[in-house]
Amino acid sequence: MTVILEMDRTECLALLESAQLGRLACARDGQPYVVPVSMAVMGEDIVGFSLEGQKVEWMRANPKVCIQVDEFDKGRGWRSVVAYGRFEELPDRIGWKVEREKARSVLAQSAEWWLPGGLKPVAKSRTSPLFFRIVIDEITGRRAQQGD
Ligand SMILES: Cc1cc2nc3c(=O)[nH]c(=O)nc-3n(C[C@H](O)[C@H](O)[C@H](O)COP(=O)(O)OP(=O)(O)OC[C@H]3O[C@@H](n4cnc5c(N)ncnc54)[C@H](O)[C@@H]3O)c2cc1C
Repeated sequence: MTVILEMDRTECLALLESAQLGRLACARDGQPYVVPVSMAVMGEDIVGFSLEGQKVEWMRANPKVCIQVDEFDKGRGWRSVVAYGRFEELPDRIGWKVEREKARSVLAQSAEWWLPGGLKPVAKSRTSPLFFRIVIDEITGRRAQQGD
C-alpha cells in the first residue's frame, strides 16, 4: 500500500535545492502559463535566470508565481513540492550587485546552468539576460511512501 505524507519546510527546501529544474507558473489576466526553468535555492529564496520574453513580461505584470518540482524513485515513491511566492528582479544596478552576484554564484554551481536560459527559437531576438528571485510565501510538500 502507498501512503501519502506531508513534508515539512526543511524537507521541502531540500528537495527544491536538489531539483535544479522546476516548473515555473505565472498568470496574467486569468490565463496561467507554465514553463520548465533551471533554478537554485539561495537562503530561503529561489533564484533563476532568464532572457526577456513572455514569462518575464507576465511576472512583471503579476509577480505572484508558483514553482513545482518533483522526484520519483524506482518504486512507487515520489516527492513533490509546490512553492508559492513573489517574483523580484535582481537588476544590474547599484544597490543590487551583492544579491545579483550571490544568485549568479549559486546558479553557477550547476554545470552549464546558463545554457537553457538561452533556449529560444532562432527567430526570436536576443536580449540581455536577467536574474530574478522568488521570495517564498508558502511551501507545501507531499511524498508517497510504500507501506506494508
Ligand atoms: C530543461 C530546461 C531548462 C530550462 N531552463 C531555463 C532557464 O533557466 N531560464 C529560462 O529562461 N528558460 C529556461 N528554459 C526554457 C523555458 O522553458 C522557455 O522555453 C523559455 O524561457 C522561453 O520562455 P518565454 O516565456 O520567454 O517564451 P517566449 O520566447 O517569449 O515565447 C512565448 C511563446 O512560446 C511558447 N513557449 C515558450 N516556452 C515554451 C516551452 N518551453 N514549451 C512550449 N512552448 C513554449 C509560449 O507558449 C508562447 O506562445 C528551459 C527549458 C528546459 C527544457
